[in-house]
Amino acid sequence: MTSSPSAPSVLVVGGGPGGASAAYWLARNGLEVHLVEKKRYPREKACGDGLTPRAVHQLLDMGFDFDGLDLHRIDGLRSYAGDMEIELTWPEHSVYPNWGATMRRADLDGTVATLAEAQGAVVEQGTTAAPILENNAVTGVTLTNDDGSRVVHPDFVVIADGSNSRFGRGVGANRRRDYPYGLAVRAYYESPNSDDPFIESQLDIRDKKGRAMPGYGWVFPLGDGEINVGAGLVSTFKGWKDVNTSHILEAYSEALPDHWKVDSVTPHTKPIGGKLPMSLSVGPKVGRNWVLVGDASGAVNPFNGEGIDYAYETGRMAATHIASAAAGGLLSDYAVELEDVYGDYHRVARVFVKAIGNPTVMKTLTTVGLRSKPLMEWTLKVMANLLDPEEAKMSEHVYKAIEKVVNAGR
Ligand SMILES: Cc1cc2nc3c(=O)[nH]c(=O)nc-3n(C[C@H](O)[C@H](O)[C@H](O)COP(=O)(O)OP(=O)(O)OC[C@H]3O[C@@H](n4cnc5c(N)ncnc54)[C@H](O)[C@@H]3O)c2cc1C
Repeated sequence: MTSSPSAPSVLVVGGGPGGASAAYWLARNGLEVHLVEKKRYPREKACGDGLTPRAVHQLLDMGFDFDGLDLHRIDGLRSYAGDMEIELTWPEHSVYPNWGATMRRADLDGTVATLAEAQGAVVEQGTTAAPILENNAVTGVTLTNDDGSRVVHPDFVVIADGSNSRFGRGVGANRRRDYPYGLAVRAYYESPNSDDPFIESQLDIRDKKGRAMPGYGWVFPLGDGEINVGAGLVSTFKGWKDVNTSHILEAYSEALPDHWKVDSVTPHTKPIGGKLPMSLSVGPKVGRNWVLVGDASGAVNPFNGEGIDYAYETGRMAATHIASAAAGGLLSDYAVELEDVYGDYHRVARVFVKAIGNPTVMKTLTTVGLRSKPLMEWTLKVMANLLDPEEAKMSEHVYKAIEKVVNAGR
């Protein structure tokens, strides 16, 4: 790959949601795009396989065929804490649909990469990229696969290599240690009720000493005879480093609600886990000719651990700014847009996840919250980032109110 006089060339590193979305939108913007993915589709990814209405919206915009695939539609969320239970449907919204979905990442990611290909992107699987750097610019990229190594010289590079982001670290990007961070683990189980149209969350997961943990356990039904069962935690509590998420998943899956009819001793697959870099904790987001997207930029939402949608969104934004930089604009405007779009939201989310690191606050919020349907409806909207544009205009007041509630619970 060399730059051509007609269309600037872009190399996308990684074919998960962030890379595939960037490639899709870059190709649609008329740029010459080459995506490299080190594994081969269908590839496993530790994930809950849950898509919120925001993620569905991004997929619809990319022309994803929701009818033609083995995808399970989700109407809403059922939450538990202690003996309390509440069921909420996804809210009505002027932009996002009122439904979500579940789909195995092993199937989803390759399908979205195919959409990018249909727009003209070249997708090369089984190929690993490593940067060659000079003065904050990526002057070349070494691509290695079974046939050997070669060096390419793209005009721009989108770094979408996920939470470990070796390529990102190679260009000097680092995670802020003072920002929260998540860990999660999941396994698939067989269940006769896998066509349940509600995803489920357990808000009072505990460690072995019985302390309430900041995080939640989930059951995301897949509609195909299996359910995705997992547990995720944020790093904001004392003793975080000693917690073993697999033990928490084990304890949680042993006590799943009866309606799943799960034999907890035999998950269908071995549990696998991963990191959740959140709150846009990785930076700098932009170099002379490169940008970070998705988990490589720490884009996961700290409120709920959702990262697929934010990978799609940041990939799309990055594509717009690369197209604009190719026409003489500033690539650094990408970082400005990230701050404009997510800055306030993440600031409040950080306060929130720090506060729930205190087991007493966590317990109070879950027990108080689940007693009130209107409060939970509003909480679902905030946590899944589904405030309507009209409501978002008031976001500053809303966020200040959350800060007050959280501080009052301390
Ligand atoms: C247990 C768990 C459960 C989760 N559940 C959910 C959920 O239900 N819903 C949700 O929205 N989010 C969930 N998340 C978060 C979500 O999985 C991530 O935020 C999302 O995958 C980020 O997408 P990405 O494209 O940035 O990175 P990834 O999906 O990690 O994709 C990165 C890709 O880059 C490739 N790659 C890496 N290095 C190179 C290289 N040098 N060269 C070429 N290719 C490379 C990798 O093989 C990979 O395919 C969960 C995370 C975990 C760990």
